[in-house]
Amino acid sequence: MSKVKLMSEILANKIAAGEVVEKTMNVVKELVENSIDAGSSEIIVELLDSGVKKITVSDDGIGMDEEDATLAFSRHATSKLFDVEDLFNIESLGFRGEALPSIASVSHIRLKTSDGIKGTVVEIDGGKIEKIERSDLQKGTTITVSDLFYNTPVRLKYLKNLYTELANIVEYLNKMALSYPDIKFRLINNEKVLLETDGSSDLLKVVYQIYGADIAKKMVEVEAENDDYAISGYISYPEVYKSNRNAITTLVNNRVIRNNELNKMIVEAYHTYIPKDKFPIIVLNIFVDPILIDINIHPTKMDIKFSKMEELKNLINEMIRKRLRQLLLIPKASVRTASAVREVSKPLVNAFYKEEIEVPEVAYEEVVLDLQTVAEDMASYDTLEEEKPRIKKMVPKGIVHMTYIVAENEDGMFIIDQHAAAERINYEKYLKAMREETREVIAPLIPISIDMAPNEYIIAREHMDLFASFGIKLEEFGSNTFIVREHPTWFKEGYEKASLMKILELVATKEEFSKEKFIEKTAITLACRMSIKANDYINMEEMEYLLDTLRACENPFTCPHGRPTIITYTKYDLEKMFKRAMD
Ligand code: ZN
Ligand code: ZN
Repeated sequence: MSKVKLMSEILANKIAAGEVVEKTMNVVKELVENSIDAGSSEIIVELLDSGVKKITVSDDGIGMDEEDATLAFSRHATSKLFDVEDLFNIESLGFRGEALPSIASVSHIRLKTSDGIKGTVVEIDGGKIEKIERSDLQKGTTITVSDLFYNTPVRLKYLKNLYTELANIVEYLNKMALSYPDIKFRLINNEKVLLETDGSSDLLKVVYQIYGADIAKKMVEVEAENDDYAISGYISYPEVYKSNRNAITTLVNNRVIRNNELNKMIVEAYHTYIPKDKFPIIVLNIFVDPILIDINIHPTKMDIKFSKMEELKNLINEMIRKRLRQLLLIPKASVRTASAVREVSKPLVNAFYKEEIEVPEVAYEEVVLDLQTVAEDMASYDTLEEEKPRIKKMVPKGIVHMTYIVAENEDGMFIIDQHAAAERINYEKYLKAMREETREVIAPLIPISIDMAPNEYIIAREHMDLFASFGIKLEEFGSNTFIVREHPTWFKEGYEKASLMKILELVATKEEFSKEKFIEKTAITLACRMSIKANDYINMEEMEYLLDTLRACENPFTCPHGRPTIITYTKYDLEKMFKRAMD
């Protein structure tokens, strides 16, 4: 190649680099995916300053011969460019080929590889090959990329701060570890180990290695299938959750994808089980015939269109909701003993840097030791689930702070939040009442009149049919007033007018509107308003009634806002705390 042509190629690569390599994560991604393509069983990513200074990726894959090693960083070496449609049929991740030359054009690269016959070292500076020489034999390939963007000072500012760069890389590698439980991954930044998986093919172990023991213990297996899809994976108990969606991982045929519609469906399945704006920890692998999907690949993420989306969404929703209903979801009051403290030692890395910047220092040996405990605990969870536990009858013993009912049964001691419990009971009652086809109504003796703001009145008037379908018969009266001729019987006595006003108000909030959503919202709002509050006096009989009704709920464990209704100290917890039982 002539010198001129070479120079213009380097320039083209530099320009492309801005698009392809805007984050250090993209470089890591490119190199890691090459390692996966090379059939590696171990991949080590070592960073200096989040990769801005140096990124080293080593693997034990098949390696390259001298020719491949020399061509790997040239634009025309796109031997691995496959038809995108093939992606889910072939083993290779290789749909790239453009990125390596771009990376080479804006950094120093040292590639050391061996195909088992001959070892090669190639050094490249700003896209120009400076050195090719023989090296000793090693298994696989080690690529070091240093001083990213050293020759394009303008682009450097596009790299966000080191912290964001690192968070992106950790998240990416977490997802790769979840996609490839059979590959050992190790991520190190400035000599700190941020991720370490053992390649044992055990998905739950990877969950443990990423999210830590506390979360791994609170994961349960799920499985579902229909004619087109088969789903398997793990979902978290509602009592552990995150403040962002990062811990929701969906794979399709073992590849990480991002599909907002599916994520939304997963979060919705947890509706009323966890607080609003909190998100479960999920790993789901969806197996599907590649014919049924349409892939759209961006440089940084993979989005997929499913041809039977509604069916898939329903399958996932039912699978999760069914599983949650089977679980005994009473959070245990934490009992801290020396051994328990060790168990809750922090995870190797908290993937959610936004919540916690400090990377906890945990010795590796310690983590390995803990794994035993996790496995044992998990076994006991499994047997629990088989018995489909419900709460046994609880006898109230009294109340503290005018809010928390203390109760017992043979399993242990329970503390119940009287408002949250009443709210759950009423919520389910109102939902049922509003969904029912036939309903009992009464005509108030003294007509109830409701005045509204003019704009709200107009919206409410458009929904007279909707109200009628819930048993609310309205009559227009004067300019901005309705007279209520009939209303359902399930309103709390004495609060009929307040309930009606609330319902009319809700319909007037001009959000995305569907009947089911309206019912849901109304049930939550009225349940909160009409339930006994904290500091409301209730007697023993009322407590007993409350506890019995709570036990009969479809989900007795949380209020419709996702707060817990009940917590427990098991008999064993108590014995342990008072040192009657030693372990
Ligand atoms: Zn409330
Ligand atoms: Zn609530």
